[in-house]
Amino acid sequence: MSQPPSLRPAPPRPPSASRKAPLDAEASPRPPLPPVLRRIHWLWRLAFVGLVWAGGMLAVTWASGRLTVPVASPTPAASPPDDGSTAPLATSAAHADVPTFTPGPTPAAATVAPPTAPLPVGRVGLLVGHWQHDSGTVCADGLREVDVTTDVALRTRAILEARGLTVDLLPEHDPHVPQPPTQGYRAAALVAIHADTCEWPGLSGFKVARWRYSDMPAVDDRLVTCLEDAYAAATGLPRNDDTISVNMWNYYAFREIGVDTPAAIIELAFLLGDRAFVDAHRYEMALGVADGISCFLEGR
Ligand SMILES: [Zn+2]
Repeated sequence: MSQPPSLRPAPPRPPSASRKAPLDAEASPRPPLPPVLRRIHWLWRLAFVGLVWAGGMLAVTWASGRLTVPVASPTPAASPPDDGSTAPLATSAAHADVPTFTPGPTPAAATVAPPTAPLPVGRVGLLVGHWQHDSGTVCADGLREVDVTTDVALRTRAILEARGLTVDLLPEHDPHVPQPPTQGYRAAALVAIHADTCEWPGLSGFKVARWRYSDMPAVDDRLVTCLEDAYAAATGLPRNDDTISVNMWNYYAFREIGVDTPAAIIELAFLLGDRAFVDAHRYEMALGVADGISCFLEGR
Protein backbone atom coordinates (compact mmCIF):
# COMPACT_ATOMS: atom_id res chain seq x y z
CA MET A 1 0.00 0.00 0.00
CA SER A 2 1.15 3.37 -0.74
CA GLN A 3 0.27 6.47 1.29
CA PRO A 4 -1.42 9.40 -0.37
CA PRO A 5 1.07 11.82 -1.81
CA SER A 6 -0.07 14.55 0.61
CA LEU A 7 1.12 12.53 3.63
CA ARG A 8 4.51 11.80 2.28
CA PRO A 9 7.35 13.67 3.88
CA ALA A 10 8.78 16.25 1.66
CA PRO A 11 12.24 15.52 0.44
CA PRO A 12 15.01 17.59 2.00
CA ARG A 13 15.56 20.78 0.17
CA PRO A 14 18.87 20.91 -1.50
CA PRO A 15 20.96 24.00 -0.92
CA SER A 16 20.53 26.30 -3.81
CA ALA A 17 21.29 29.83 -4.94
CA SER A 18 17.81 30.91 -3.88
CA ARG A 19 18.97 30.77 -0.17
CA LYS A 20 21.30 33.65 -0.81
CA ALA A 21 18.74 35.64 -2.73
CA PRO A 22 16.90 38.55 -1.05
CA LEU A 23 13.91 37.53 1.06
CA ASP A 24 11.41 39.48 -1.02
CA ALA A 25 12.75 37.92 -4.10
CA GLU A 26 12.40 34.51 -2.49
CA ALA A 27 8.85 35.25 -1.31
CA SER A 28 7.68 36.70 -4.57
CA PRO A 29 10.16 36.33 -7.30
CA ARG A 30 9.92 39.02 -9.94
CA PRO A 31 11.45 39.15 -13.33
CA PRO A 32 14.66 41.16 -13.51
CA LEU A 33 14.25 44.80 -14.62
CA PRO A 34 15.79 46.03 -17.80
CA PRO A 35 19.14 47.80 -17.29
CA VAL A 36 17.65 51.24 -18.01
CA LEU A 37 14.86 50.84 -15.46
CA ARG A 38 17.27 49.43 -12.92
CA ARG A 39 19.47 52.51 -13.31
CA ILE A 40 16.42 54.81 -12.92
CA HIS A 41 15.31 52.87 -9.87
CA TRP A 42 18.77 53.13 -8.33
CA LEU A 43 18.92 56.89 -8.96
CA TRP A 44 15.47 57.36 -7.42
CA ARG A 45 16.48 55.53 -4.27
CA LEU A 46 19.69 57.57 -4.04
CA ALA A 47 17.70 60.80 -4.39
CA PHE A 48 15.26 59.64 -1.71
CA VAL A 49 18.07 58.90 0.74
CA GLY A 50 19.59 62.30 -0.01
CA LEU A 51 16.31 64.07 0.65
CA VAL A 52 15.85 62.23 3.93
CA TRP A 53 19.41 63.11 5.03
CA ALA A 54 18.99 66.79 4.09
CA GLY A 55 15.68 66.99 5.91
CA GLY A 56 17.21 65.47 9.01
CA MET A 57 20.07 67.93 9.00
CA LEU A 58 17.68 70.85 8.65
CA ALA A 59 15.62 69.59 11.57
CA VAL A 60 18.69 69.20 13.77
CA THR A 61 19.92 72.69 12.85
CA TRP A 62 16.53 74.23 13.59
CA ALA A 63 16.23 72.46 16.93
CA SER A 64 19.75 73.40 18.07
CA GLY A 65 19.14 76.99 17.02
CA ARG A 66 15.97 77.11 19.08
CA LEU A 67 17.94 75.90 22.11
CA THR A 68 21.05 78.03 21.77
CA VAL A 69 19.66 81.43 20.72
CA PRO A 70 18.31 82.49 24.13
CA VAL A 71 21.58 81.59 25.85
CA ALA A 72 23.79 83.30 23.31
CA SER A 73 21.75 86.47 23.05
CA PRO A 74 22.35 89.03 25.82
CA THR A 75 19.62 89.32 28.37
CA PRO A 76 17.94 92.71 28.31
CA ALA A 77 19.85 94.94 30.73
CA ALA A 78 17.89 96.93 33.24
CA SER A 79 17.98 100.65 32.58
CA PRO A 80 20.37 102.45 34.96
CA PRO A 81 18.64 104.06 37.91
CA ASP A 82 18.47 107.80 38.11
CA ASP A 83 20.14 107.70 41.47
CA GLY A 84 23.80 106.97 40.75
CA SER A 85 24.40 105.78 44.28
CA THR A 86 22.35 102.64 43.76
CA ALA A 87 24.00 101.61 40.48
CA PRO A 88 26.84 99.55 42.02
CA LEU A 89 24.38 97.68 44.21
CA ALA A 90 22.17 96.77 41.24
CA THR A 91 25.18 95.62 39.24
CA SER A 92 26.54 93.38 41.96
CA ALA A 93 23.11 91.91 42.65
CA ALA A 94 22.65 91.04 38.98
CA HIS A 95 26.02 89.29 38.91
CA ALA A 96 25.16 87.35 42.03
CA ASP A 97 21.93 86.09 40.43
CA VAL A 98 23.51 84.74 37.28
CA PRO A 99 24.79 81.35 38.50
CA THR A 100 21.68 80.39 40.46
CA PHE A 101 18.86 81.14 37.98
CA THR A 102 16.49 81.40 40.89
CA PRO A 103 12.95 81.35 39.59
CA GLY A 104 10.36 83.82 40.68
CA PRO A 105 10.98 87.28 42.09
CA THR A 106 14.65 88.21 42.35
CA PRO A 107 15.91 88.15 45.94
CA ALA A 108 18.25 91.08 45.28
CA ALA A 109 15.97 93.69 46.84
CA ALA A 110 15.58 91.65 50.00
CA THR A 111 19.26 90.77 50.46
CA VAL A 112 20.94 94.12 49.70
CA ALA A 113 21.42 95.96 52.95
CA PRO A 114 20.70 99.67 53.14
CA PRO A 115 23.85 101.76 52.60
CA THR A 116 23.93 103.01 56.18
CA ALA A 117 21.63 103.19 59.10
CA PRO A 118 20.51 106.67 60.08
CA LEU A 119 22.71 108.51 62.52
CA PRO A 120 21.67 108.15 66.17
CA VAL A 121 19.50 111.20 66.71
CA GLY A 122 20.03 112.81 70.11
CA ARG A 123 23.36 111.07 70.76
CA VAL A 124 26.59 113.05 70.88
CA GLY A 125 30.15 112.12 71.68
CA LEU A 126 32.70 114.05 73.71
CA LEU A 127 36.24 112.84 73.16
CA VAL A 128 37.97 113.87 76.40
CA GLY A 129 41.48 115.00 75.57
CA HIS A 130 44.16 112.73 77.11
CA TRP A 131 41.63 110.96 79.35
CA GLN A 132 42.76 107.39 80.15
CA HIS A 133 45.89 107.90 78.05
CA ASP A 134 48.30 110.60 79.28
CA SER A 135 48.35 113.94 81.08
CA GLY A 136 48.60 116.27 78.10
CA THR A 137 50.41 119.51 78.69
CA VAL A 138 51.57 120.06 82.29
CA CYS A 139 52.04 123.51 83.79
CA ALA A 140 54.88 124.43 86.14
CA ASP A 141 52.58 124.36 89.16
CA GLY A 142 51.30 120.90 88.32
CA LEU A 143 48.06 121.78 86.50
CA ARG A 144 47.47 119.04 83.94
CA GLU A 145 45.59 119.46 80.69
CA VAL A 146 43.74 116.17 81.21
CA ASP A 147 42.25 117.48 84.48
CA VAL A 148 40.85 120.54 82.70
CA THR A 149 39.45 118.60 79.74
CA THR A 150 37.86 115.99 82.00
CA ASP A 151 36.23 118.60 84.20
CA VAL A 152 34.86 120.57 81.26
CA ALA A 153 33.64 117.39 79.52
CA LEU A 154 31.76 116.21 82.61
CA ARG A 155 30.10 119.62 82.94
CA THR A 156 29.25 119.64 79.24
CA ARG A 157 27.70 116.19 79.52
CA ALA A 158 25.56 117.33 82.45
CA ILE A 159 24.24 120.31 80.46
CA LEU A 160 23.49 118.23 77.35
CA GLU A 161 21.81 115.45 79.34
CA ALA A 162 19.62 118.08 80.99
CA ARG A 163 18.58 119.00 77.43
CA GLY A 164 17.53 115.43 76.75
CA LEU A 165 20.60 114.26 74.84
CA THR A 166 22.59 111.06 75.33
CA VAL A 167 26.29 111.77 75.77
CA ASP A 168 29.19 109.35 75.30
CA LEU A 169 32.54 110.20 76.87
CA LEU A 170 35.26 108.76 74.65
CA PRO A 171 38.79 108.25 75.99
CA GLU A 172 41.99 109.19 74.24
CA HIS A 173 44.17 106.39 72.92
CA ASP A 174 47.31 105.74 70.93
CA PRO A 175 46.89 107.70 67.68
CA HIS A 176 48.64 104.92 65.77
CA VAL A 177 46.36 102.11 66.91
CA PRO A 178 42.67 102.51 66.02
CA GLN A 179 40.39 101.06 68.64
CA PRO A 180 36.83 101.23 69.89
CA PRO A 181 34.82 103.07 70.95
CA THR A 182 36.37 105.79 68.77
CA GLN A 183 36.84 103.44 65.84
CA GLY A 184 33.68 103.58 63.75
CA TYR A 185 31.90 105.75 66.32
CA ARG A 186 28.64 107.21 65.05
CA ALA A 187 26.65 110.01 66.58
CA ALA A 188 24.81 113.17 65.61
CA ALA A 189 27.99 115.05 66.48
CA LEU A 190 31.36 114.47 68.09
CA VAL A 191 33.54 117.13 69.71
CA ALA A 192 37.06 116.52 70.92
CA ILE A 193 38.00 118.71 73.88
CA HIS A 194 41.57 119.82 74.48
CA ALA A 195 43.35 122.78 76.09
CA ASP A 196 46.38 124.61 74.80
CA THR A 197 49.97 124.53 75.90
CA CYS A 198 51.31 125.95 79.11
CA GLU A 199 54.65 126.78 77.48
CA TRP A 200 53.82 129.81 75.31
CA PRO A 201 53.47 133.02 77.32
CA GLY A 202 51.41 135.85 75.93
CA LEU A 203 48.98 133.70 73.97
CA SER A 204 45.25 133.75 74.71
CA GLY A 205 42.03 132.48 73.24
CA PHE A 206 40.38 129.36 71.83
CA LYS A 207 40.16 127.77 68.41
CA VAL A 208 38.03 125.17 66.63
CA ALA A 209 38.92 123.01 63.62
CA ARG A 210 37.57 120.09 61.63
CA TRP A 211 39.25 117.34 59.65
CA ARG A 212 40.84 118.79 56.53
CA TYR A 213 39.94 115.64 54.54
CA SER A 214 36.36 115.37 55.72
CA ASP A 215 33.84 113.68 53.42
CA MET A 216 31.31 116.37 54.31
CA PRO A 217 33.20 119.63 54.85
CA ALA A 218 30.08 121.81 54.68
CA VAL A 219 28.45 119.87 57.52
CA ASP A 220 31.58 119.93 59.64
CA ASP A 221 32.06 123.63 58.91
CA ARG A 222 28.61 124.32 60.31
CA LEU A 223 29.53 122.49 63.51
CA VAL A 224 32.75 124.52 63.68
CA THR A 225 30.88 127.80 63.22
CA CYS A 226 28.31 126.86 65.87
CA LEU A 227 31.07 126.05 68.35
CA GLU A 228 33.01 129.22 67.57
CA ASP A 229 30.00 131.49 68.01
CA ALA A 230 28.57 129.78 71.10
CA TYR A 231 31.92 129.41 72.87
CA ALA A 232 32.85 133.05 72.23
CA ALA A 233 29.45 134.16 73.52
CA ALA A 234 29.62 132.00 76.67
CA THR A 235 33.26 132.69 77.61
CA GLY A 236 34.13 136.03 76.07
CA LEU A 237 37.47 134.51 74.95
CA PRO A 238 38.86 135.59 71.57
CA ARG A 239 39.47 133.18 68.71
CA ASN A 240 43.10 132.35 68.06
CA ASP A 241 42.94 130.72 64.63
CA ASP A 242 46.58 131.57 63.86
CA THR A 243 47.76 128.75 66.11
CA ILE A 244 45.59 125.99 64.61
CA SER A 245 48.03 123.12 64.05
CA VAL A 246 48.25 119.96 61.98
CA ASN A 247 47.45 118.03 65.16
CA MET A 248 44.03 119.67 65.05
CA TRP A 249 43.00 119.49 61.40
CA ASN A 250 44.50 115.99 61.07
CA TYR A 251 43.41 114.73 64.50
CA TYR A 252 43.62 110.94 64.49
CA ALA A 253 40.11 110.42 65.85
CA PHE A 254 38.63 112.09 62.76
CA ARG A 255 40.05 109.26 60.70
CA GLU A 256 38.60 106.59 62.96
CA ILE A 257 35.02 107.67 63.53
CA GLY A 258 32.20 106.93 61.11
CA VAL A 259 32.55 108.94 57.93
CA ASP A 260 29.04 110.34 58.39
CA THR A 261 29.60 111.59 61.94
CA PRO A 262 30.05 115.38 62.07
CA ALA A 263 33.10 116.18 64.13
CA ALA A 264 35.25 119.03 65.36
CA ILE A 265 38.01 119.70 67.88
CA ILE A 266 38.25 122.64 70.24
CA GLU A 267 41.19 123.99 72.21
CA LEU A 268 39.42 125.58 75.15
CA ALA A 269 42.08 128.13 76.18
CA PHE A 270 45.81 128.56 76.77
CA LEU A 271 46.60 127.09 80.15
CA LEU A 272 49.33 129.68 80.71
CA GLY A 273 47.95 132.90 79.19
CA ASP A 274 44.31 132.19 80.17
CA ARG A 275 45.10 130.48 83.45
CA ALA A 276 43.01 132.78 85.68
CA PHE A 277 39.99 132.34 83.42
CA VAL A 278 40.44 128.56 83.25
CA ASP A 279 40.51 128.33 87.04
CA ALA A 280 37.39 130.47 87.52
CA HIS A 281 35.06 129.73 84.60
CA ARG A 282 34.84 126.00 83.94
CA TYR A 283 31.05 126.18 83.76
CA GLU A 284 31.13 128.90 81.10
CA MET A 285 33.60 126.83 79.10
CA ALA A 286 31.29 123.82 79.30
CA LEU A 287 28.26 125.93 78.46
CA GLY A 288 30.00 127.23 75.36
CA VAL A 289 30.69 123.69 74.12
CA ALA A 290 27.16 122.52 74.93
CA ASP A 291 25.56 125.53 73.24
CA GLY A 292 27.68 124.96 70.16
CA ILE A 293 26.48 121.35 69.93
CA SER A 294 22.86 122.35 70.49
CA CYS A 295 23.20 125.03 67.79
CA PHE A 296 24.42 122.37 65.32
CA LEU A 297 21.79 119.77 66.25
CA GLU A 298 19.00 122.30 65.96
CA GLY A 299 20.18 123.36 62.52
CA ARG A 300 21.02 126.89 63.46
ZN1 LIG B 1 45.65 118.12 74.25
